[in-house]
Amino acid sequence: MPRAKTHRSASDLVAAGLAPPQALLELERVAARYAVSLTPDLGELIAASDPHDPIARQFVPDPAELDRRADESADPIGDDANSPVEGIVHRYPDRVLLKLAYVCAVYCRFCFRREMVGPGRRRALSAAALAAALAYIRDHPEIWEVILTGGDPLVLSARRLHAATAALAAVDHVKVVRIHTRVPIADPALVTPTLVRALKAVGKATYVVLHANHPRELTAAARTACARLVDAGIPMLSQSVLLRGVNDDAATLAALMRALVECRIKPYYLHHGDLAPGTAHLRTTIAHGQALIRGLQGRVSGLCQPAYMLDIPGGHGKSPIGPSYIRPLPATTDGQCFEVEDFKGGRHVYPPGSAGA
Ligand code: SF4
Repeated sequence: MPRAKTHRSASDLVAAGLAPPQALLELERVAARYAVSLTPDLGELIAASDPHDPIARQFVPDPAELDRRADESADPIGDDANSPVEGIVHRYPDRVLLKLAYVCAVYCRFCFRREMVGPGRRRALSAAALAAALAYIRDHPEIWEVILTGGDPLVLSARRLHAATAALAAVDHVKVVRIHTRVPIADPALVTPTLVRALKAVGKATYVVLHANHPRELTAAARTACARLVDAGIPMLSQSVLLRGVNDDAATLAALMRALVECRIKPYYLHHGDLAPGTAHLRTTIAHGQALIRGLQGRVSGLCQPAYMLDIPGGHGKSPIGPSYIRPLPATTDGQCFEVEDFKGGRHVYPPGSAGA
């Protein structure tokens, strides 16, 4: 049976019943600005009758994207300012991003790299640029970890991925290769045994970080794709973005984190939405995010707890943004006491003598 096609335009989405015909002109204006791609695997998850469907909200363009706020930026986390050579972002001392691909299987409406990824540009780093990026990594012995991102590296051929992981495997000081992807969810059939073999940087710890935002994304096919990676000895972590109308309620977030852990994927980060252009309608407040994390704490297994992170605008890096369960009390003659909150909201004093001599 021929594979259903990927929707790549506003008219594709209208024809598939995933957007109303009367919105076509406006959605074409959005699509002219920001790339559109919705794979059959994700398209099938959308309940077209639900105007608030959480999968549609992530991938079907919204006229609100044309509303660009003054505090939003084309490069909200400062990739460009921290890029010494094309394809490398060196923000933290011991690790770099290596942006291999400039395209993705799907285009997320909230993407913080939405001005940098999409069709109409090169699909991947050129051979010369990749050689220069690898030379940069070789020349910097402090680089312990290389994070393949983009774009989505898993849209590249197994041959191309293997060339990159093999080159990284040959660098003594690189000990960890981490690959960020949405492909096991967006197009699970791409995760073939050949691709899995290509991902492993032989002799290094290779991790895959899955981007997932709603429990419905973890379909049987997506779970099989992830199992293929984990069974091959590749540990998996997840990152999610907190999105208004998608996962900003305690039940959805708990179901997502549990589904990930059931797939042997450790929830790693829950990102607060970045100040990417035209994404205000998808962001929540930090106070709401903290309340949701508080709701997970204690009520859901510790395995299911991601760190709630903010990428500080301007390229200053990520910081955990709480909530905090401990506060100092006024010091006594015995030393510093703390008040610690339990998962039910009860408060308890941690005495100064507890640190030992
Ligand atoms: S897959 Fe990642 S890089 Fe690509 S559009 Fe989505 S969030 Fe952005």
